[in-house]
Amino acid sequence: MKRALITGITGQDGSFLAEFLLEQGYEVFGLVRRESWYRPNNASHLADKVHILFGDMSEGIDISSALQDAKPDEIYNLASQSRPGESWARAPETLMINGMGAIRLFEGVRHACPKARVYHASSSEMFGRTNIIPQNEDTPFNPANPYAAAKVYAHQMVRIYRESYGLFISSGILFNHESERRPLHFVTQKIAYGAACAKLGVLNSLDLNECGHPIVSEGKLALGNLEISRDWGYAVDFVKAMWLMLQQEQPDDFVVGTGELHTLRQLCQFAYEHVGLGWQDHVVSDPALVRPLETSQTLADASKARHVLNWQPTVTFEQMVGKMVDAQIVRIELQLRDRK
Ligand code: NAP
Repeated sequence: MKRALITGITGQDGSFLAEFLLEQGYEVFGLVRRESWYRPNNASHLADKVHILFGDMSEGIDISSALQDAKPDEIYNLASQSRPGESWARAPETLMINGMGAIRLFEGVRHACPKARVYHASSSEMFGRTNIIPQNEDTPFNPANPYAAAKVYAHQMVRIYRESYGLFISSGILFNHESERRPLHFVTQKIAYGAACAKLGVLNSLDLNECGHPIVSEGKLALGNLEISRDWGYAVDFVKAMWLMLQQEQPDDFVVGTGELHTLRQLCQFAYEHVGLGWQDHVVSDPALVRPLETSQTLADASKARHVLNWQPTVTFEQMVGKMVDAQIVRIELQLRDRK
């Protein structure tokens, strides 16, 4: 039985990946911060199926112990301070986890299990302010925030460790991917939540936004610039690409994305249509929420992943939005029931 260690198993991708690897017959280990495991998280339902190893990516000793305990054949390094916007306020911590954490892991692999295959989570944010559209593995990076800069550092170290020490480390340059497990502070999930509130007739939502106000207030969901467009895919499809990268003969870097652009306006349209409503009656664009764009148009050219990994997305944008809205309806119904 193959053994896999996942850092960031409580996150969106980590939890879907754990499910996928269990289905493939792997013995799965997860490196988790102790305080995170004891509150409800995306992997709570897997508690009796995976081995949890407590540790923090900012502690080299925790990483070494996890490698020694798990003795992994495959390692998926997904742990990250994963909010680009928040990385401005948490720049040193972001570099510590997303940059140094990765290097500590590669060092640990070099000494403890040099035969293990490693997947590292890079990001399309690394392209930042680029003029080249679409982006592929050869597109130069131009990071525009501390999150992206830390990801570029770790990404370059993947190549350096691969070439210098002969380690099998592959980097996935993943474009935005969403799901019902995205936290509520992401705009995609806010829209799904807004549509669910509208469907259930919730005029003032129980969940609050970053300013401490109901996400839906007096029946309206306030958003910033609705013309922003992104290449959004479904997370379950993307974790399969991670696994495929480690099944190749050689380690390499791969761009993973759908190659399709959608605007926030379309996302609103699909979300509210899914519950039989018109989005214009429920969404307002608030100029106060319009933020200057950090990144240029990011659109994946994932032809290498399609040809080499034989990977392609299976869930359409519209289907993904529908799944997210349905999950929010179930969640809000439970919340309302609990409050009675
Ligand atoms: P996520 O849901 O935010 O999960 C991040 C995970 O990292 C959580 O399990 C979190 O654990 C863990 N973590 C954070 N700091 C840690 C630390 N100091 N020590 C140990 N664990 C720590 O992120 P995701 O969406 O699944 O993304 C997975 C990876 O892909 C991340 O590296 C992200 O940057 C990258 N990525 C994501 C996207 C996307 O669109 N989702 C796109 C490109 C790249 P806690 O439960 O303790 O917080």
